Amino acid sequence: MRRDYYAVLGIAATAPPREIRQAFRRLARQYSPDVNFWDSAAERLFEEITEAYRVLSDPEARAMYDRFGPGFGGVLDVGRRGDDVHLAIDLDFAQAVRGVTVQVPVARFSPCPDCRATGRDRGDPCVACQGRGVRRSVDSVEIAVPPGVDTGTELRMGGEGSAGPFGGPRGDLVISTRVREHPFFVRKGDAVHCEVPISVWEALRGARIRVPTPYGESVLVVPPGTAPGQLLRLRGQGLPRLTDGTVGDLFVSVRVEVPGSLDARTEEIVRELQRLLPGPARADLARYRGGAE
Ligand SMILES: [Zn+2]
Repeated sequence: MRRDYYAVLGIAATAPPREIRQAFRRLARQYSPDVNFWDSAAERLFEEITEAYRVLSDPEARAMYDRFGPGFGGVLDVGRRGDDVHLAIDLDFAQAVRGVTVQVPVARFSPCPDCRATGRDRGDPCVACQGRGVRRSVDSVEIAVPPGVDTGTELRMGGEGSAGPFGGPRGDLVISTRVREHPFFVRKGDAVHCEVPISVWEALRGARIRVPTPYGESVLVVPPGTAPGQLLRLRGQGLPRLTDGTVGDLFVSVRVEVPGSLDARTEEIVRELQRLLPGPARADLARYRGGAE
């Protein structure tokens, strides 16, 4: 159970800042671990005193404390784990496919070098960290992004978040990834979709065509009689799944391009083809006229 901070420092709730400072200095000298290094009761008391002073000496934290009591706002537990730090990183499609290592500036709390995270400097609260034992810092952190991340993927790096007050361990760094859209490849989970134009003749006769893939290039076999919009699959050319490492497929949708106009010679050839390959029977459709069923 946490004691009242005013009681810890032995002062009235109306005490001015000067009185708070004096009370803290007197008690800190009395219960300093430097003097009482064998006494765990004195050590706990010293921690209470430091914590009470840290809150009551900060006008904002004191106002919060007066309103809401301990456990709110800037109240720090000695040795507790630091907070997780969240950040988002933007990646290209190719980086999501292959994975990438990036250096990212991370704003977090780090142990105060001036007081070696103790919050005290020769018995007084450390000026550099206002007695917190931690200070804001911006550090470059290397993040290894595995292949297969998507927009909204959350990666967690243990021990790269904010340092806890007074030597507490660091929290985690939680990174959410955003993958930019690609002009050609469209991601659907571990599958990748794209659309490739083919000619009417390739659709009719079949073809082997070169298509770009997320990893380079592949030969796609278009079977004879391929219909417009048909999905052709290239196995294992999609994205790796983060959970089990299996790789998804690349689905190529074929867009059949019809020539816009024919010259006299091709017109004659197509007319001949039309005689040989009659179109679909549409007579059956007549009964639906006017919306009848
Ligand atoms: Zn310090």
